[in-house]
Amino acid sequence: MSGRLHRRLRCCLLGVLTVLAMQLLIVVLVVRFGLIDELISHRLLLQQQQLSLHQLEWREFITHTPDQPHALYQYNRQLSDNLAAVRLLPTTRHHSCNRRRYRLPQASRAKLSVVICFHNEARSMLLRTILTLISRTPEEYLHELIVIDDGSEDAGLLASLERHMTAANVQRGRPTLIFRRNLSRKGLIWSRNEGARLASGHYLLFLDSHCEVNDGWLEPLLERLALNSRLAVSPVLDPIEPETLSYMAGNELLKGGFDWSLHFHWLPRVLAEKEALAQPYASPAFAGGILVISRESFHKLHGFNPHLEIWGGESIELAIKLWLCGGQIEIVPCSRIGHIFRPAHAFEFPLQFGQEQKQKQEKELELEQELERVQLDSAQATYLRNSKIIAESWLDEYKYLFYALKPSARQIPLNLRTVSQPSYDPAQIKAELNCRPFDWLMRHVSPELRLQHANLSALGTLRNADRCLHVAGTEPQLQLQLASCHGLQVTQWHLHQESGQLSTSEQRLCVAVDAAAKQPQLSLEPCRAGQGGQQWLRRNTQLQHAGTHLCLDNPLKDQLLLSHCRPHAVSQSFQFALEIQAQS
Ligand code: UDP
Ligand code: MN
Repeated sequence: MSGRLHRRLRCCLLGVLTVLAMQLLIVVLVVRFGLIDELISHRLLLQQQQLSLHQLEWREFITHTPDQPHALYQYNRQLSDNLAAVRLLPTTRHHSCNRRRYRLPQASRAKLSVVICFHNEARSMLLRTILTLISRTPEEYLHELIVIDDGSEDAGLLASLERHMTAANVQRGRPTLIFRRNLSRKGLIWSRNEGARLASGHYLLFLDSHCEVNDGWLEPLLERLALNSRLAVSPVLDPIEPETLSYMAGNELLKGGFDWSLHFHWLPRVLAEKEALAQPYASPAFAGGILVISRESFHKLHGFNPHLEIWGGESIELAIKLWLCGGQIEIVPCSRIGHIFRPAHAFEFPLQFGQEQKQKQEKELELEQELERVQLDSAQATYLRNSKIIAESWLDEYKYLFYALKPSARQIPLNLRTVSQPSYDPAQIKAELNCRPFDWLMRHVSPELRLQHANLSALGTLRNADRCLHVAGTEPQLQLQLASCHGLQVTQWHLHQESGQLSTSEQRLCVAVDAAAKQPQLSLEPCRAGQGGQQWLRRNTQLQHAGTHLCLDNPLKDQLLLSHCRPHAVSQSFQFALEIQAQS
């Protein structure tokens, strides 16, 4: 009897021990392979999906999406419709970001107003942007959501969204929801300014309408903002592939910058010794147009320049203004926001340069004639006009570099006399905020700008009378010729200080002379270092070939040849858009 009891007891003990050992093993596995995070985020995701499915009936909302061609969205709309409203995203930030405890400001002092404006966004995409934001932002910080429909063709979208979201929001009462619709298209810049005007939180987030914030996106940004009130921040943007909508890791070794034509560029950054990859870093410009800034400093800077039209340049202008007038910009790699980088503009750029009808007609006519002459479409013209305004406002004497690279900008009329826009005068802002000259930004923030042309003695179009030196045709039949200076694609040249090479701006092709030939001929060759036949000397406005001592000449209309140099010969006078040595 007692023997059987013993055996039973031993069995029980063994069973208990086995169960304990199994549990221990599971705990070890879970901790070792980070499965806890996975389990928690799965649970959160289920909650989020239930929230969105039950409260918003989002399926019903998106079934009313009008049928539109792919070109209207520039991403896979069908796929977007079929994906969950809030989906689980891969963790793309450095693992150290997950372990950190962020020093956060009190929620009552860090209320966030989110401004999302959109033009022709697919319903499912817009909804995913909004629901992901709501479900991944700590409730106590998310103060309000301002959604502005910038004259989208889907006229019922906003009212329907408002109905659904207000119903879903009833018990929570947070965030405050503000919906506005521009009956006619006013553009991104006007709409974001309007969103900022309506906002009442401490901080503003400007977000595109095709984004997915990743887990823990806000805390790392808030920590930085709370430490330094002069700061504005961007997350690292994780690219979402437009066709597969797959979410990928963005690159934290890139910062935002721009070139002398005021085009945005991603610039490589070099880590300082012992600098961790996840550490916030200074950036000349924001990551695209997605940024968080205190509402107070945004308004102090007079917001986005209201003279800029539709789309383009506004966040570069804000960045320049911020740096020059006492602010700073950082990109914070522990904060991740997914963004669909579309291959092309998904929208048209209307010609709407003016307010008053009569004035508008005159201006449009003037502009159309000008555009025809310089062969620009309205998107390029809008961008160019915006860039010209920025160059005139902030680049000081360096604006000549901008014009050298964008000669057609000279012809674009600005017509800044505005009727309904608030007054915006860069000179007044500079005086008010004691802003630094542009040169300071080149020395302290964006040394890349200085380096860009450091080894050049001249650049831009190369003009003789009213014709410009141009590379025509397609490879392998490329030809050097004289062409109209107003073509959009007219060749831009670089004259290199040391090598004396005269190359196309991408530095692939050089103008060469075969000195061995009986009659020296001009030709185009791939640029090669130390190539005597490619060396030119600048003699006042003449270009003299070093090997033959002959000068570039245009004796008859479109004839281009080499001849003996004759000082003061008009046909041998070639002007670059910008002579750097003459400028400095
Ligand atoms: N947008 C707008 N009105 C316009 C043009 C754009 O409201 O006239 C919106 C657009 O829907 C998007 C944001 O502004 O949410 C930024 O535009 P886009 O995504 O095309 O710019 P990108 O990301 O290519 O710089
Ligand atoms: Mn975008």
